[in-house]
Amino acid sequence: MRRQRNAKIVATLGPASGTPEIIRRLVEAGADVFRLNFSHGTHEDHRKRYDIIRSVEEETGRPIGVLADLQGPKLRLGTFAEGRVQLATGDTFALDLKGGPGTRQRVSLPHPEIFQALAPGVQLLLDDGKVRLEVETSDGERAQTRVVVGGPLSDRKGVSVVGAVLPLSPLTPKDRVDLDYALELGVDWIALSFVQKPEDVEELRSIVRDRAGIMSKLEKPAAIEHLNAIVALSDAVMVARGDLGVEMAPEQVPPIQRRIVRACRQAGKPSIVATQMLESMIGVPTPTRAEVSDVASAIYHGADAVMLSAESASGQFPLEAVTMMNRIITVAENDHDYYRPMSDAARPAPGATIADVICAGIREATRLLPIAAVVTYTTSGSSSLRASRERPAASILSMATSRKIARRLTLGWGLHSVEAAAVASVDEMSIRACEAAIREGYAKTGDTIVVATGTPVGVSGTTNTLKILTA
Ligand code: PGA
Ligand code: MN
Repeated sequence: MRRQRNAKIVATLGPASGTPEIIRRLVEAGADVFRLNFSHGTHEDHRKRYDIIRSVEEETGRPIGVLADLQGPKLRLGTFAEGRVQLATGDTFALDLKGGPGTRQRVSLPHPEIFQALAPGVQLLLDDGKVRLEVETSDGERAQTRVVVGGPLSDRKGVSVVGAVLPLSPLTPKDRVDLDYALELGVDWIALSFVQKPEDVEELRSIVRDRAGIMSKLEKPAAIEHLNAIVALSDAVMVARGDLGVEMAPEQVPPIQRRIVRACRQAGKPSIVATQMLESMIGVPTPTRAEVSDVASAIYHGADAVMLSAESASGQFPLEAVTMMNRIITVAENDHDYYRPMSDAARPAPGATIADVICAGIREATRLLPIAAVVTYTTSGSSSLRASRERPAASILSMATSRKIARRLTLGWGLHSVEAAAVASVDEMSIRACEAAIREGYAKTGDTIVVATGTPVGVSGTTNTLKILTA
């Protein structure tokens, strides 16, 4: 199965998309990577979906990426005696550590570590910003606030402290249990929510090691201040626009999205634009024109992947949403007058490494010759991602020496990822590359292909040879 586009589709699975039949059809419609969202569902739910993905993979013979998304340290209120209260603008309202059911005067905020940050004047956003409080006094165990924007509050609504870097571990006890479970299943990517600083990524890395790729979700303004350091430590980055748009004015989200995508392209790390992309398709089978335009914009400015959340997990039209995304990407990428020149303009300078010299050569070859396919051999995945960073004019057939890396690379822009058998020499690689290009539908006998290889075969970081061959 060959895709007719370069950017990838990540689809979240949930109650609306948990059967073998629908998962198979989502793959056929265009889903390249599935997201298991550990904010919802039981381990048993995730395991069932994981097993179905792997059996669909077996059937289709194509690697499928699986992303486990950890909930992260999202602060939440305690509960209310009546389930909900209504706060009016101008009221006083307290947050404390006392526990017990909340009232119109107070509620528990069971996170002792954050009370230090609640100095007078600090604002708190509750329920994704629907209610806003301002701290008047605080003694480390209780914060007295004034309601700046009133509204309803109910059990366990989310809380964010505007502008603060909170002394929170990026991994809650629940996340640690979920992480072990996800790694045990064999997922290809782990997404870390509410990253605040580079050390958060390092902490996850020390546990995950090389068992999965690490995707940092950028959804806190504080993380943007360390953008380059976080990108450098991560294997991929998600622009998590839902939470990003809570603490920040909505008009700040588009320029930040562009900055993140650009920083990722510079570093050669996949970027994923996420949340509300086709939001109205949760309930109706067609998107708004503005949503279509949003997906196309992400493609135009160079995102590696776009993501569906509730649209595919719990909405009524998961299949239609993936089909629509596939169509939008395909049309945007074929808008040659605009898309190609723009992607060329955003091209980062190759680094002073042998691998980047080879990749720059690949790009030049696809510009000057009618190249049917670029074939990269990779052990760690790095050679294929460096080639992808160049955005060459021909498709990249990525041959990974392990199934694990082949699955992980399904996220990368323009990569048609396959698992390749071990080979003994560069000559054998060339033969296998030609065979694969023909078998996977990228070339016919007599077409010209470009192959990036290196020796010793199967050792990471040895790419040093660019071959131009006739298939
Ligand atoms: P979430 O992350 O769906 O896990 O909240 C994405 C976002 O915040 O946009
Ligand atoms: Mn989020």
